[in-house]
Amino acid sequence: MKSLTGSHHRRKLTHRAFLGLGSNIGDRKANLRTSLSLLEGAELRVTKSSSLYHTEPMGEVEQPWFMNAVAEVETILSPEELLHRCQQIEEEMGRQHIIPQGPRVIDLDILLYDQLTLNTAELSIPHPRMHRRRFVLIPLLEIAPDAVHPLLKKSIRELLKDISDFSVVKRVNSA
Ligand code: AMP
Repeated sequence: MKSLTGSHHRRKLTHRAFLGLGSNIGDRKANLRTSLSLLEGAELRVTKSSSLYHTEPMGEVEQPWFMNAVAEVETILSPEELLHRCQQIEEEMGRQHIIPQGPRVIDLDILLYDQLTLNTAELSIPHPRMHRRRFVLIPLLEIAPDAVHPLLKKSIRELLKDISDFSVVKRVNSA
């Protein structure tokens, strides 16, 4: 639709969600960027994205460092539709499910969706581990320090003060 000035109407999409992005195979920076551009469309707009961060892998699996970022999106997709969209992109980008918790070309997680809380076999919102991960909270601090975790009733800023994860999260120098 064209407005009188000739520019496209940018209708506000109904829901606001935050997504976590991670990659530790291949050209990580390109993988993060590609996933964001694949997400964009009539049903979803990326409204903010954080810097990229080099992050130390957590857990037992020996694997390369990750690059992580978070994005704010506006969307008309339901939580389930958004999850399926993310999974479709993971498939398209050739993510292989070989080692659980292991290396991946791209991993897309739904962190927050409005102030919704949801717990089904397929989907937990807020993401059940987001508040314990520096690689999620530090990029979120950049774009949404005052966003509130609907179960813990704390802002991103407050969650970071309480955290007991001390793994390395280092901002990528953009040049
Ligand atoms: P992963 O391999 O770590 O990306 O885990 C993917 C699985 O987590 C999928 O089977 C999803 O159904 C499930 N899942 C549960 N909650 C979420 C969420 N908030 N975002 C993304 N995946 C989720």
